[in-house]
Amino acid sequence: MPQDLLREVWGFDDFRPGQGEIVQAVAAGRDVLAIMPTGGGKSLCYQLPALMRDGVTVVISPLIALMRDQVRSLREAGVAAGALTSGNTEAETGEVFAALSNGTLKLLYMAPERLASGATVPMLRRAGVTAIAVDEAHCVSQWGHDFRPDYLRVGDLRRALGVPLAAFTATADAETRDEIVARLFDGRAPQVFLRGFDRPNIHLAFQPKDNPRRQIMDFAAARRGQSGIIYCATRAKTETLDAALNAAGIPAVAYHGGMEAEQRREVEGRFQREDGLVVTATVAFGMGIDKPDIRWVAHADLPKSIESYYQEIGRAGRDGAPAETLTLYGPDDIRLRRTQVDEGLAPAERKEADHGRLNALLGLAEATACRRQHLLAYFGETSDPCGNCDLCDNPPELFDATQPVRMALSAILRTGEWFGQGHIIDVLTGTATDKITQRGHDRLPTFGVGKAVPKGEWQAILRQMLGRDLIRPDPERHGGLRITATAHPVLRGETPVTLRRDLVRRARPDPVVRA
Ligand code: ADP
Ligand code: ZN
Repeated sequence: MPQDLLREVWGFDDFRPGQGEIVQAVAAGRDVLAIMPTGGGKSLCYQLPALMRDGVTVVISPLIALMRDQVRSLREAGVAAGALTSGNTEAETGEVFAALSNGTLKLLYMAPERLASGATVPMLRRAGVTAIAVDEAHCVSQWGHDFRPDYLRVGDLRRALGVPLAAFTATADAETRDEIVARLFDGRAPQVFLRGFDRPNIHLAFQPKDNPRRQIMDFAAARRGQSGIIYCATRAKTETLDAALNAAGIPAVAYHGGMEAEQRREVEGRFQREDGLVVTATVAFGMGIDKPDIRWVAHADLPKSIESYYQEIGRAGRDGAPAETLTLYGPDDIRLRRTQVDEGLAPAERKEADHGRLNALLGLAEATACRRQHLLAYFGETSDPCGNCDLCDNPPELFDATQPVRMALSAILRTGEWFGQGHIIDVLTGTATDKITQRGHDRLPTFGVGKAVPKGEWQAILRQMLGRDLIRPDPERHGGLRITATAHPVLRGETPVTLRRDLVRRARPDPVVRA
């Protein structure tokens, strides 16, 4: 049910690291203290549970602008939310009181100063408040920079209402934590969520698709006897890979949403019990799986977003012992994921946000230094190079690709932003195919400007350009490549582009399936 709300109200497919557990605890009515980095997604941790329970959740927050923002976006998502702040017009305040008295409000944002008025607590009691959430809870610490005396009244509020309280902060030091516990919870220990996002025992690796089946088979074969999951983008692929693994003597079983419930339960049971079984699965697999010794997770295709990626690899190595991951990606994946977003039914802003989350994952795929650092930075945590990812193991050679990237952009523009990668590479390398001569593309000034660069290198360059969102396949032009706003400063010669050389290698054709 939390998962359904996450999808329906917020449009997210997965929880971010830590969110799921916190949501569960808050929804269960526990007192909670959660320490999450800024940008980690804490608001969802109290907003979502507020929708799961009866009555109103009061949110104490020190920042009026932030409250107004949140109320606006909640309302846009169809959630009954309101704020009582000094910035309100009289009409706004009247509306909030009306919604409170007729019991329709789910979330009430309030600045701590409000608590100084003797009328506030009785008003909240009458309104049927069933939980309290406190944002920026470190403001209760008298020794911190952000001390707000009115935060001391939050403890009184909790006592007066006798409802559970969830406190959130990004400040992790032990003293501040102790002070929060003393002042907001009267010293009764709340459930504390402090675990950082990092899962240091999981080795991170990405590879561009070169010979994808071979890459996956090799990865699995090298880990024979260990339990692993291979995530695939399609049901059909779960089945062909399953057959290929079994033919190679690696015990495997497929799992996807198209199977009967009973059959799926059977696979889950086998995976739980048997050692060394490989499950080839769609994302339908994993929710109910609680197996601590999954030694590896591979993605045969690019996941949907950085959140999904993290959630899926996070199923490996729950026991803390070393675990390995491999994620394959290629231009077709990027095209597929972009098309899924573009052709979805979501409103325009949500599509843009979905493209943004896909970009975040592609940025990780095309990272030029420590992947974990990159991943954690996305979730708001700073860290040192990890020493446990493919890029720490083998730092890639970088090169200034500004020149070739501008050549490719210009070839795309000159051909009317209408063609796919193959055609653009033919233009760049001066390959006079029928399609090229029919369209007169052999007479373009860009024809053959990139002759010196082998085709395989051009493929790697274009893939990295897709990954940097310099170019996108246009669903309205059969996936023809078009240039994004990100590319404009590059075209104008204002922004240089650095790419990885190590991945620039000749692409081999996918061999005929031998199952
Ligand atoms: P903070 O922890 O700083 O309060 P927010 O709650 O404002 O962070 O969330 C930061 C950003 O992360 C927001 O843009 C939000 O939409 C996004 N976000 C939060 N949870 C998820 C999720 N499960 N999947 C994708 N994006 C998320
Ligand atoms: Zn690293």
